[in-house]
Amino acid sequence: MIALRIGNGYDIHRLVGDRPLILGGVTIAHHLGLDGHSDADVLTHALMDALLGALSLGDIGHYFPPSDAQWRGADSLKLLAQVNQLIIERGWRINNLDNVIVAEQPKLKPHIQAMKENLAKVLAIDPDLIGIKATTNERLGPTGREEGIAAYSVALLVKEG
Ligand code: MG
Repeated sequence: MIALRIGNGYDIHRLVGDRPLILGGVTIAHHLGLDGHSDADVLTHALMDALLGALSLGDIGHYFPPSDAQWRGADSLKLLAQVNQLIIERGWRINNLDNVIVAEQPKLKPHIQAMKENLAKVLAIDPDLIGIKATTNERLGPTGREEGIAAYSVALLVKEG
């Protein structure tokens, strides 16, 4: 008997001039970075919400509220490790993950493999189980105007026995 659960996640953060740009734990050289209470790693945030959503465990705001000073500047990969622990404790494992980053600039393709490896290491899974695509928004909307970067994630969890 195999049980499956699917979850999706979405996040967007504002681009500002005085912050680093961190996506999937990779710091990317760019004149703008993402604003937020934590390190504002929008990809990792969307992914955490997909994982939590698959098990109906709520969202990252519940576990790591911006009102709590201990999450200020937090490394989102550390938060992801905690989310992964919640999944493992309940007897589930990740079947695969798929993600889309929506960013007009900079070009993300050279950084995708490093993002996969960072996320895979934290989740203790094979990097090949993680899809990450980057797309522009054809200069439309807030991401297209480079006001922010957004990410979408889907997680499929499996439980055997
Ligand atoms: Mg966020």
